[in-house]
Amino acid sequence: MPAKPLKILQVAPEIAPYAKVGGLADVVGALTREFSEAGHDVRSMVPRYGFLQQDDTWEARDEPLAVHLGGGKTEFARVWRMPYRDSPGGVYWLEYDRYFHRHEIYTGPWGSHADNHERFAFLSRAAIDYCHQEQWYPDVIHCHDWTTGFVPVYLNSTEFGTPVAHAATVFTIHNLQHQGLFGRETLDFAGLPQSLFRPDCLESVGLVNMMKAGLYNSTKLTTVSQTYAHEIQQPELGCGLNHVLKFRAADLIGVVNGIDVKEWNPATDKLIPATFTADDLSGKAVCKAELQKAFGLEEAPGVPIFSAVARLFDQKGLDLLAGIVPWLMDSMNIQIVLLGAGDPGLENAFRDLAAKYPGRVGAFIGYNHKLSHLVEAGSDCFVMPSRFEPCGLNQMYSMAYGTLPIVRSTGGLVDTVEQYVEKRGTGTGFRFEHATGEALYYTMGWACSTYYDRPDEFRKLQHNAMTRDLSWKASAAVYGDVYRWAVEARLRGLGIQTGQSLSRAPFKVAG
Ligand code: ADP
Repeated sequence: MPAKPLKILQVAPEIAPYAKVGGLADVVGALTREFSEAGHDVRSMVPRYGFLQQDDTWEARDEPLAVHLGGGKTEFARVWRMPYRDSPGGVYWLEYDRYFHRHEIYTGPWGSHADNHERFAFLSRAAIDYCHQEQWYPDVIHCHDWTTGFVPVYLNSTEFGTPVAHAATVFTIHNLQHQGLFGRETLDFAGLPQSLFRPDCLESVGLVNMMKAGLYNSTKLTTVSQTYAHEIQQPELGCGLNHVLKFRAADLIGVVNGIDVKEWNPATDKLIPATFTADDLSGKAVCKAELQKAFGLEEAPGVPIFSAVARLFDQKGLDLLAGIVPWLMDSMNIQIVLLGAGDPGLENAFRDLAAKYPGRVGAFIGYNHKLSHLVEAGSDCFVMPSRFEPCGLNQMYSMAYGTLPIVRSTGGLVDTVEQYVEKRGTGTGFRFEHATGEALYYTMGWACSTYYDRPDEFRKLQHNAMTRDLSWKASAAVYGDVYRWAVEARLRGLGIQTGQSLSRAPFKVAG
């Protein structure tokens, strides 16, 4: 953690648990909590979506927020502060109904919202106008994925020379696959000059690329694991931006996510029927029985359950699992549980498999938070055959609950799951290299034989997994270093001498 308290503005499209699509929401929430509890002034600005429930902890400023867009246009929004869970940090909900009063964050029933470029340019612009209006000048603005890519561009162009432009920007890549590509009229809407439409700023393939905007213009870049930081500099996983990331490699840091150990703790979890610890797994057996009941499986305490919880999209590789279920059912005495939603073809494939193998395969198609806790708690192994995985959270939840992850060696799965070494009993799970059904099949077979033939080693791996420190503490400390490093670099870039210590910076670092 930095020695001096910082003013930190996070700008993000999601924050857990209120507005969440994926792991990005968990990161934004965890940083809000960790940094505010450590004494920093943390404000996290997120759009106020239509599905959010306002309560009496919300407070709005009487004066509306003037958001200055292109063509001299000003729109009026409202910012509601809400304390973030039980921490001193705050969520600042940006209310602007035309763009955000919707039931989905990015996509509606007909695909991506057609005005996403306007919606998220608006979020970026509003975050900066908020600082101007409040005269609250952050030391660091932490942006998350393409939706916030214009924030550092504003600081380097239209805002340059204003107090808010002293802020260092840290831009975190959660998933490089989604980049936010739009027509160049987006710049006119946002009030950014067309002169920025260049390959060394925010143009790519003749379009405005909001992810690239963030990558080129931020002081420092992070992504959510060290392995993914390396992978995205290669053509295979660089999604066309590998050359940009190579160019900025010295400023790109991989910081693996932690998990919320208050929520995901088998010793205290209120969403599961019985709690348990690394030294006493008796409660896990109760959870297993409950899980078998919930998914209509045979109540067989001695049969290992292999589960998966995921968005059913190509990235997660669960088509590989669906493809080998008949083979698994023929050759192994195991049960399979799937909780997920997404691609309708894959949803149907799992529905069909559950119908074909009653009592042995169970599928719940949909999103169900409570059930995800039961799946983690009651299973023996957790399957993540991801084609790519920037960090991944489920493998860490699984480890915390003594459910051994079976993962493809990619991204954060490499950094967080330690490979099992037979006879030594070291490791926390099972890894495989190739994204094929065959590789997955043999690795599940390896886990299955460990369960039946080497139960002491299986138990040892569970203990290893459950006693790992998966909390945010270590990662938050690295983000603290990155923030400080970014502040120094930004001020140096502006010609402001900071010396060795931020305390000598010529502007007030802390409130
Ligand atoms: P991603 O962010 O790519 O979706 P992660 O593993 O990082 O993948 O995070 C996924 C998060 O979403 C986890 O908290 C996981 O438990 C949750 N999740 C995904 N699908 C479901 C579902 N169908 N029901 C409940 N929780 C889900």
